[in-house]
Formats: sequence, C-alpha cells, structure tokens
Amino acid sequence: MRLIFLGPPGVGKGTQAKRICEHYNLIHLSTGEILRNEIAEKTNIGRKAKSFIDAGELVPDDVLLGMMNNRLKKDDVQSGYLLDGFPRTIPQANGLDNIMNNISHSLDCALSLNADENELVQRLINRGKESGRSDDTPEIIRQRQKVYWEQTAPLLDFYREKNLLKEVNGIGDIPEITERILKVLN
Ligand code: AMP
Repeated sequence: MRLIFLGPPGVGKGTQAKRICEHYNLIHLSTGEILRNEIAEKTNIGRKAKSFIDAGELVPDDVLLGMMNNRLKKDDVQSGYLLDGFPRTIPQANGLDNIMNNISHSLDCALSLNADENELVQRLINRGKESGRSDDTPEIIRQRQKVYWEQTAPLLDFYREKNLLKEVNGIGDIPEITERILKVLN
C-alpha cells in the first residue's frame, strides 16, 4: 500500500501516520523528520533547509523532489510506504507523480485529516512547550498554518480530481481517529 497523509500542522498527522504504518507494516516517510535529521547531521540538504524551516516557510520544491526521488528508489520502501508531509505544493505533487510513474508505483490513497485552525494553533503552542522544535513558537505556528492553506490545501482538489482523496475528521482521541482512518482505508 502507498499512502499520502495531508492535513494542517498540528492535526496529528505524525501520530496517526505512525499508528497506520504499524498496522499495515508500511515505512513512515516524514519529510519534516528527514529534514530535521539532515540539519542535525549538517548535510548539504540540511544547510539548504534550515532557514526555511526556522521561518515556517516551505523548503524549495527541487530540494524535496531530489530527496524523495532518491528515497523512493531504496529497497526498504518497495513493499509500501506512507508519505507524511509530502507533497506540500502542486509542483511537488506533479513531481511525485513522475517519480512514482518512473518506478511503476501507484498511489492508493491521499488521506486528509481535517480540523479547525484555532484548535490546532492551541495544540501546537502546547506541543512547543515540550517538543523543543525551533518552529513550534506561536508566531511561526501561525505562519505554518498560513502556508498550509495557501500552498498545500490546493492538493485536496488535485487528489479529489484523481478520485484518490479520502477525508477524515481529525478531532477526537488518538485511537478513535485511527479507527476512522482504518475504516476509510479498508
Ligand atoms: P513537518 O514536520 O511536516 O511539520 O515539517 C516541518 C517543516 O519542514 C515545514 O514547516 C517545512 O519548512 C519543512 N518541510 C517538510 N516537508 C516539506 C515539504 N514537503 N516541502 C517543503 N518543506 C517541507
């Protein structure tokens, strides 16, 4: 199975992605996590990404597409994966289509977790107190929400038109939301 998870920052994508990957035995590919590792290891990609992440902006499409083109060719993902936080723009979605076509992978579903923006901002401010993430401050959180609605939300129509979009209510407790997701995926 090959899945994409969409949804605004703070909706619980990462938490649900891990649970769904365990359930179906998929590789969890979170581009935010991959980029944070690149920064920690001071690689070229990390150097390019850091200022964008700290400002709550998207890292340029060519960086993401190059990185994911390499990643999706690796042996460990051949039996299935869940993309968490990628694609985030229409050019990334088109680029991902090309990458997947070239390696004869087809996408099973783009799953969108939905929630109200104000609730999410509050959740992220709370997370920021514990996570130590440099981009979990109130100002950057607002900026990341804005970026989502402007640049990523158009992907909902992109995948709806391909008949791949499934939407799930992201408000509730963690196991309850996992059940909703499993129900639409089955
Ligand atoms: P996340 O952990 O998914 O919230 O991502 C944290 C940050 O990493 C984002 O605010 C972006 O700066 C960057 N990032 C992660 N995924 C992407 C992507 N697909 N395109 C551009 N930037 C990304």
